[in-house]
Amino acid sequence: MRRTLVVGNWKMHGSRPANAELLAGLLAARPYTADVAVCVPAVFLTETAATLAGSDIRWGAQDVSAHEQGAYTGEISAGMLHECGCRYAIVGHSERRAYHAESDALVAQKAQAALARGVTPIVCVGETLAEREAGQTEVVVKRQLSAVIHQLAHCAAEMVVAYEPVWAIGTGRTASPEQAQAVHAVLRAQLQAATGRADTMKILYGGSVKPDNAATLFAQPDIDGGLIGGAALKAADFIAICRAA
Ligand code: PEP
Repeated sequence: MRRTLVVGNWKMHGSRPANAELLAGLLAARPYTADVAVCVPAVFLTETAATLAGSDIRWGAQDVSAHEQGAYTGEISAGMLHECGCRYAIVGHSERRAYHAESDALVAQKAQAALARGVTPIVCVGETLAEREAGQTEVVVKRQLSAVIHQLAHCAAEMVVAYEPVWAIGTGRTASPEQAQAVHAVLRAQLQAATGRADTMKILYGGSVKPDNAATLFAQPDIDGGLIGGAALKAADFIAICRAA
């Protein structure tokens, strides 16, 4: 039995006062039956860690460097995230693939760098609208996941996967539970073939998850929770999604 995991991706949102209010709301609403985490902008990690320490809400980053250390201005290493108590690092989010030209190979290296320092990578895969309409969804997500599986080799079962159709992110247009489940089943079969442990691995869905659609999505057999963008910024919405699990 896989425990549901709900992860908030704050993206480049937040401020000290707003974060304090949001986190206080999340803490006050405990206990959750799902595992809950927030991936916050890196500058807020230390404060987030101080606020959430001792609770069962976990925290993480939205990216990680593929490098261990060195002259990589602006980058943040997995070791640094580990020092900040991060449980998770999102890698390969479609916004990073699109705006920072991150390749499948780089995403795979980032996932490996995170795992090497005990930070669980949440590896995002997903097709664009044009790719879906061209019937390429399966080919695209399998290619993206395959690069990471290959890089992680015997550690591949340690990652979390997030299926995030690009056309559903921040658009208000959610994949139907059936559409999402179909892709999750493909991903789980791929993970099973590679690791033999896919029944223990979490595959999250992301893309306009809201309080009113979360329960149906999470009820699908291969959907183990969600990666939540916009709705993670309002305590009431995020709490409702966590409770839908
Ligand atoms: C995301 O950015 O990972 C995401 C799923 O965003 P939203 O929930 O806003 O679509």
